[in-house]
Amino acid sequence: MKAIEPRERLVWHLREAFADRRPPVVATAHAMGTTGGLFYLSGALAALFVTAQFPARGVYLAAELVVVSAAAVSGGAVFFFGHRFPRGAYQLMNLAGTLMVTLLVVLAPSTEPASLLAVAYLYVPLYSFFFLPLRQGLAYEVLGDLGIAATAAAGAVPWAEAGVLVLVNLVIAAVVTWLVRAANMAEVDRLTGLLNRAGLQRAVRSTIESARRSGHPLALALFDIDHFDAYNRDHGQVAGDRLLQYFGAELASRAPKGAHVARNNSDGFAVLLPGLDAARAGAMARSWWSHLSGARACSLGVCQLDPGDTFAMFADRARSAVYEAKEAGRATMVVRESHAAQAAELADGLAAGQFVVYYQPIVGLPGRELIGAEALARWEHPDRGIVGPDQFIPLAEECGLIVQLGQVVLAQAMAEAATWPEPMTVSVNASVRELDRDDYAAKVSSLLEETGLAPSRLVIEVTESLLAEGQCVLANIRGLHELGVKVALDDFGTQYSSLRQFSSLPVDYVKIDRSFVAEIHAGSSSAPVVAAICTLAKETGRAIVAEGIEDEHQAAVLTAHGCDNAQGFLYGRPVPARELFLRSGVLVAPGP
Ligand code: C2E
Ligand code: MG
Ligand code: MG
Repeated sequence: MKAIEPRERLVWHLREAFADRRPPVVATAHAMGTTGGLFYLSGALAALFVTAQFPARGVYLAAELVVVSAAAVSGGAVFFFGHRFPRGAYQLMNLAGTLMVTLLVVLAPSTEPASLLAVAYLYVPLYSFFFLPLRQGLAYEVLGDLGIAATAAAGAVPWAEAGVLVLVNLVIAAVVTWLVRAANMAEVDRLTGLLNRAGLQRAVRSTIESARRSGHPLALALFDIDHFDAYNRDHGQVAGDRLLQYFGAELASRAPKGAHVARNNSDGFAVLLPGLDAARAGAMARSWWSHLSGARACSLGVCQLDPGDTFAMFADRARSAVYEAKEAGRATMVVRESHAAQAAELADGLAAGQFVVYYQPIVGLPGRELIGAEALARWEHPDRGIVGPDQFIPLAEECGLIVQLGQVVLAQAMAEAATWPEPMTVSVNASVRELDRDDYAAKVSSLLEETGLAPSRLVIEVTESLLAEGQCVLANIRGLHELGVKVALDDFGTQYSSLRQFSSLPVDYVKIDRSFVAEIHAGSSSAPVVAAICTLAKETGRAIVAEGIEDEHQAAVLTAHGCDNAQGFLYGRPVPARELFLRSGVLVAPGP
């Protein structure tokens, strides 16, 4: 596939429009239903006027009235319920409409009413070219023109009128095709000729509707080219464009009939696979992925539509599969099997308010004064008791409920912390998935206003994996900083990390992961990783919080390395808010 040259544009458009088997952008279920219904109803009403003015006799009148009533009843049904019809029903409607017009014209008692009724042939190209792929529209155009010719041959309308009608039909067809093409182009990626993100979203929404109606499975496969920025930097943008075109063309040529292939972001492609579940789609996508990996390593995530999924949940699950593939070191694939039952239970638990927040003290070193607390989610499950986050956060991430859960925790934690003595802080974990939404910083801002919590008393804990994320995540981090909210890099040292990005990131705290702290045993005072992280954090002007401190020896070693704050069972386990200040091991820091 190659980029579009201006001179080739018209031919290219015609060829592409003809090859395009997808319904036009404007062919939404509601538009097709409402418009089809209106066409039929107005046609029936017009035919009634003409019949009243030029009444036929006997059996002809009866036949006319039957056709008019059939048009009126079908029109009503299509207007109100058409959006629920399968697409095939509209083919039938188009055929029936053409047949009805032909019958009315032929049954008309004289040329005058026949000529008036023949105008209704114009509905056929109007409807077909707006709502059907071009090649089907052309078929109906031919059918309509044949109908017009047949009525002229039968002597119902003069040949001159038939000629004018065919001409007008053709002009309407050309104009509508051009308009529809322009609308379609808004959903096409110029570089690859595939659907763009907007086009994909529309395809996913309408395919979800049909999958629900038919009960057939639906899968989504997302391909993300690994380190595409680096490829562009090293090989130049032209080579980058060529790589994207290659990926797009390969996927388009391998995808089965009925699949939608899209370039859904700068370096990612999506293939929507109706009729396939995750396992079958995974097997198919794996072969494409191995082939594409020959040109450039990529990460692949595959998931299937679960019952009750909204568009956002489905798309989020596919994205989370890709994130997981990237976090697993890239150049790999993750297939998400259906977790419908567990996801539904989690959604019910959220709706029933079963998620509560526990708080674990964070103390200053070496004095152990209580300077803040980390908010940690717990599920008060009606049967299983208190359930820890390791049992629901991965699922929430996978099914997209993490965004809702994150909001519940954030709102509870901020409202609670607003009642704590100043300047105690509250640290809240945010998933990359939450930060990948445009409105995260704005939501934090409105919660700050609602709860009255001073921005400097809120710390958002993010993980290192965000360093590999796009602009939206970084924009949110900067947005939080602009609000005066602090940001901590959680579980530091355990994931992908680019030291160049790390040094430029607006992060106030570095949290040393408890796996490094656990390496500090009694009798060994050397802790090289901890020492290195402390030096790095200090040199880049970040405060340090060590996690998972369980004994005095670990606390002493960390203090010796210049660690500012600490968190761990030594100072207190996560507890409900009311118990936070009852801990004996810590002192509440004096207010300002
Ligand atoms: P994290 O943010 O690194 O939280 C610290 C975890 O370490 C907590 O586990 C805490 O109970 C545990 N911990 C603290 N001190 C010690 C210690 O001395 N020894 C040991 N063995 N463990 C200690 P928890 O509460 O099970 O949370 C696990 C993870 O779940 C968290 O890790 C965080 O990544 C995630 N999480 C918890 N709540 C939320 C939430 O509201 N949103 C998001 N996105 N993630 C959350
Ligand atoms: Mg944390
Ligand atoms: Mg941590």
